[in-house]
Parts: sequence; C-alpha cells; structure tokens
Amino acid sequence: MLTSTGTVRVGLDIGGTKIDGVALGPGEEVLATRRSPTPHGVVDVVACATALVTGLLDDLAGGLAGGLAGPVRLEGVGIGVPGLVDPADGTVRSAVNLGFGPGPVDLAGMLSVAVGGVPVVVENDVKATTWGAHTLLAPAGDLALLSLGTGLAAGLVVNGELLRGAGAAAGEIGHLALDPQGHRCNCGQRGCLETVAAGSALRRDWPHGGEGRSADHLFAAVAAGDPAAVAVLDRWSAGVALAVRTLGLTFDPSVVVLAGGVAAVGEPLRRSVAGALRRQAAGSAFLRGLALDERLALLPPGRPVAAIGAAAAPA
Ligand SMILES: [Zn+2]
Repeated sequence: MLTSTGTVRVGLDIGGTKIDGVALGPGEEVLATRRSPTPHGVVDVVACATALVTGLLDDLAGGLAGGLAGPVRLEGVGIGVPGLVDPADGTVRSAVNLGFGPGPVDLAGMLSVAVGGVPVVVENDVKATTWGAHTLLAPAGDLALLSLGTGLAAGLVVNGELLRGAGAAAGEIGHLALDPQGHRCNCGQRGCLETVAAGSALRRDWPHGGEGRSADHLFAAVAAGDPAAVAVLDRWSAGVALAVRTLGLTFDPSVVVLAGGVAAVGEPLRRSVAGALRRQAAGSAFLRGLALDERLALLPPGRPVAAIGAAAAPA
C-alpha cells in the first residue's frame, strides 16, 4: 500500500482503441487502474490522458479517507504509445492509429504541463510491455518479448536494462528480409519475417471471424480438425518459431514472452509455437539442447502490462 509519503507513479498505455491507466506505489504494486476509449487526435488524446491521471489520483485520495496516512504525491508519468518514440525528448512520430500527424508530437511536454509539471517519459508500446513483463515475471535471466500484432517486433531486457540500440531499432526483427520472392512489406523490403508471422499475416491467410477475431476463429477451426486451418496455423507458427529462434540465438534469454493481439489466444498459441520449435529442432542436437520451446511464456491475463511497464520504466 501507500507509504507515509504516498508517492505514486502513473503509467498510461495509449492504444488504438483504449487507454489503460495504472497508479503504481513505491514497490511497483498496482494501487488503482482506470480505462478509457482512445479519442482521435493530439489535443483530445492529451485531454483524455490528463483526465485519467487526475482520476487515478482521485481514486487514491478516496483511499486515503479510508485511513491511509499522508497526501498522494505524483512522482512522474510514463506513457506507452504505438509509434516511433524519441526517448531523449519524449516526442512521438507516426502514431497513425492515434490520429497524430507525420511530424514529431511533444506528447511528454504537453502532458507534463497539463498535470502540474511532473516528469513525463514516453516509450514505444512494445518496449513498455517488455518492461512490464520483466516487472511482473521477474525472470532470473534476460527476457525477450515477441509482440505479435499488426506488426512483429521484439523487446529485450538484457542485464536488467531495456535495450534500445543506437537508432532505437533494437528488436525490430520483423523486418529481417528472409524471402526475396515473398510478400511486399510496409517497410519497403520483400519477404520480411513480419509478412509471414505477424498477426496481420495470420489475418491475410485466415480472413474469417471478423475484425480482430481471426486468431480465435483459426484456433477454434484447428480444434475442430479443419485441415485448411491446421495448414495455415502450422505455417504461421513456423514463422513465429523462427522469430523465437532468432531471439534465442542472438540474446539467449531465459524467457521469451509471446505478446501482442494474437497472444490473447493464450495457451493454445504457446503450445502451437512450442510444437513448431520442437519440429524445427528435430534434426539438430544443438537446437534441441537450447530447449527454446521450454522458455516460452505468456503474460498474466487481464493485467495492464504495458501501463505497468510505462509507469515502472526507468527514465
Ligand atoms: Zn519489413
């Protein structure tokens, strides 16, 4: 619970459809949560984010009336956003899902002014989720998180630090171009890993079940024994397994977390990717020895992991 000083950090996960907010105590425990639909455009997103921060502080002030000592002091705010983030100055570019323009948006600066001048740190959403996973799972070794959404990207915590790289491209393994004859990728290359193993690739090859439901539909069809569904899932899982092998052989993390929209499927997804890893390792004692299939993990369901990571991420 709150310490006597009542210092809290707020994390916001600003997604294309909703904004999750959490208030974290000094021990990174979740004290309060709120959620709001995401409005469109910079001004309305900042107003909504401001309302979530003040709402979370109001929730805690209500808790103080129940006997907790000391005023609530907001130490800082962390934000996770889907876009290109410059962590040095908190600007965001290309957050098209939020209705932001192509130029840099000073999200950190605007929110900081709106909430009374506390420090605001902005992080890419995959990196925020990665830090949240590291906070919640507390693995013994390094952690990799593979985000399977519209795109495919990895986040990495190495020696207890979030890896960013010289050009903020660390973990962008979705754009490993593997097949010169493959599908054209949004990045301009052809045959990127993302074009065979992202959630969008799964939707392209299994366009059933409605918007955002194709993974659920595919796994249900596989469970019902549909051979076409089995073929699509086997091919897609092989692509995801290749992404896991890439992470395994580059960083040798102790845990590889499967995350992103498709991971809402849960355990059947983990089993399918683990099976693909075992098939790919069948002819290689070297790969079998790494036991990458045993390193796969899922995020705890129902937890606002990206918001927790945004709040807990080091400035
Ligand atoms: Zn690409």
